Amino acid sequence: MKLWNHYHTPHSIDQAIALLNQYQGKAKVVAGGTDLIVELREGHHPIQEALIDVTQIPELTSLAADDNNEIYVGAGVTHSQIVKSAVLAARATCLVESCGVVGGPQVRNVGTLGGNVAHALPAGDGTTSLVALDAKAEIIMNGQRRVVPILEMFRGPGQSLIDSTRDVIIGFRFALCGDNEATAFKRIMRPQGVALPILGCATWVRLNPAQTHFEVARLSIAPIGPTPGRAAEVEAVLIGQPATDAAIEHAIETALQILKPRTSKYRATGDYRKEMIAVLLRRTLQLAVQRARTGQAVPEGIGME
Ligand SMILES: Cc1cc2nc3c(=O)[nH]c(=O)nc-3n(C[C@H](O)[C@H](O)[C@H](O)COP(=O)(O)OP(=O)(O)OC[C@H]3O[C@@H](n4cnc5c(N)ncnc54)[C@H](O)[C@@H]3O)c2cc1C
Repeated sequence: MKLWNHYHTPHSIDQAIALLNQYQGKAKVVAGGTDLIVELREGHHPIQEALIDVTQIPELTSLAADDNNEIYVGAGVTHSQIVKSAVLAARATCLVESCGVVGGPQVRNVGTLGGNVAHALPAGDGTTSLVALDAKAEIIMNGQRRVVPILEMFRGPGQSLIDSTRDVIIGFRFALCGDNEATAFKRIMRPQGVALPILGCATWVRLNPAQTHFEVARLSIAPIGPTPGRAAEVEAVLIGQPATDAAIEHAIETALQILKPRTSKYRATGDYRKEMIAVLLRRTLQLAVQRARTGQAVPEGIGME
């Protein structure tokens, strides 16, 4: 059965937007297609008059650091390309670690960071790390170019701020880790079966210049609620505290009081997922502190190519 009638491959954002306008809600943006084609096959969307493939638009496929220690990652950059980036591995390690565990090699080779965010699931792996990195999304929405904080992109499970029959995510921008800063990501999955994480956790820390205390921490643990989010109360507990295991255990106690992961027949029981909050927070905080102190970060847990 035909799932779409026309397939366009524009080479500029203007062309992509003009095509979306031309089809008036009857065409959808596609990137790697790893979510969309599955959903079209399963009948979650009507047959599309057209698919607008955004993976040939240079602004969506570029990945470049600038002189202000910021990096731009185009929405059409694939998980595999992110994994291969030396600058991301060293200075945004959590993003490499999260994109490195998405699906298998076939999915990572075509699946994109923009598709991960546009799909708006509460536990997209790339998304979880973009939240800890405090990224901003560059989008065209209602014909206007806008820059929005990453957390504003999510309206509910599977519900994005943007409408991909009309709007396009162009890319993401965030600060690379500098001195005394580092990140880490870990995820717990079922060993086999459905590709749903039990829990994922991305951590970003900045230590003080003496490297003895936490100056800032950003924690993204997912899925806990209907949208991706930060564990702000847990972050607050760490700020100004010695960067020690005792402070990390105190933060974990707070997390266990505040965060209430629910039981999901596809993921695990709420009680088990709560125990995993402790495991993942401990591992990612200890790893991020070690990386911040040494200034060295080698991504862990990357899937085989
Ligand atoms: C077998 C399998 C395993 C998977 N495992 C994981 C996993 O471990 N972790 C994980 O997080 N995900 C996983 N996924 C989900 C999926 O691969 C990722 O979410 C991927 O990043 C989606 O990107 P894509 O380019 O394929 O998106 P597409 O399927 O092309 O698009 C997804 C949605 O986003 C919209 N869209 C895409 N790009 C844009 C854009 N630039 N602007 C506007 N709208 C856009 C599309 O219209 C569509 O609604 C898995 C999928 C499969 C099939």
